[in-house]
Amino acid sequence: MKYEKTRQTVLNAILDCVDMGLIHGTSGNIAMKDPDEDVVAITPSGIRYKTMTVDQIAIVDMNGKWLDGPFKPSSETPMHTAVMRARKDVTATVHTHGMFATICAMNWELKPITPPQCEFVPVRVVPFTMPGSDEVAAKVVETLGEDGLSCLIKNHGMFCCGKNMAQAMAAAIYTEEMATTTYYAKVAGIYEPMPEEAIKKMKALIAADQAV
Ligand SMILES: [Zn+2]
Repeated sequence: MKYEKTRQTVLNAILDCVDMGLIHGTSGNIAMKDPDEDVVAITPSGIRYKTMTVDQIAIVDMNGKWLDGPFKPSSETPMHTAVMRARKDVTATVHTHGMFATICAMNWELKPITPPQCEFVPVRVVPFTMPGSDEVAAKVVETLGEDGLSCLIKNHGMFCCGKNMAQAMAAAIYTEEMATTTYYAKVAGIYEPMPEEAIKKMKALIAADQAV
């Protein structure tokens, strides 16, 4: 099988997302660029993840054209490939409909509540456009900008990316954690994100690999 390692990384990541409750049913999708070729492994459309096998992960080119795999690639492929075309530093992308990220996407740009979350801000909100469209793909690219790792998509979910799958997954996990803590803190009337100065310092420490 071609691109087996890349396909396996995508499958492992989507199963982790299912286990963590970030993905329910067949919603959400994950992609990874192959390290050697300009092709992307991506979860297929409408297939249950729990019983998915490595060969069922679809392969597309950098424009999202279906090249290999028995099932058609995710309908949200344009978002993943658009971000990888725009950002040479990105090799992995994670899109989920996590409950709290989706709630916060209606209105709230997320700010860190705890230090590890600082790596993934700013988390801005992409206005609603139809899922699977080139329009939503373009808006995600624009909102992430040159170095963003996470954004919320209004009435839809979140989109995260990273230099590798570990970073893209961490972005998705911490974005959902940020959304969950933000939601409960706001509902409890005690919302107080980290101070701006501390966020800047923490981001610099993480970037220099000096955070504890
Ligand atoms: Zn979606």
